[in-house]
Amino acid sequence: MRQSVFASIRFSAVCQGCGAQAEWSGVQALVNDSLRWGVESMCSACGFAVAVCGGDLPDELRGRLLSEHRTATLRLTVPAQRAKAMRVLRAELGIDLTDVKVVLERVLAGAYSGTLPEIECLARRLRAAGIDAVAVPPTSV
Ligand SMILES: [Zn+2]
Repeated sequence: MRQSVFASIRFSAVCQGCGAQAEWSGVQALVNDSLRWGVESMCSACGFAVAVCGGDLPDELRGRLLSEHRTATLRLTVPAQRAKAMRVLRAELGIDLTDVKVVLERVLAGAYSGTLPEIECLARRLRAAGIDAVAVPPTSV
């Protein structure tokens, strides 16, 4: 079993039950090679509790994760395998040939970044295809 990778945050947002500020926690995780996310909250004022989760990370939660943790970077240590890398990136990201060239250039320049679970997921897919890819975690503040 491969190691799971998590990025989690706490934030306050309005309670859906009473409108008071409630503490929320959010997490994105790479578990068994698939990306999941979830948020949950329990309001101390009215006791309203909510938990939601899913596959594709909502932009709002992604923004919170990125601003809290900064971004992880995808690095290819063998830049020669361009064609193979492009095939994996196209399949994973669901993008066309024009876009994948741009993405690959950013990867090779060390400028392709995202949340740690996202980048780790891509790195694993690339390694599974025999490409020497690593996810570089965000530098700790
Ligand atoms: Zn409440």
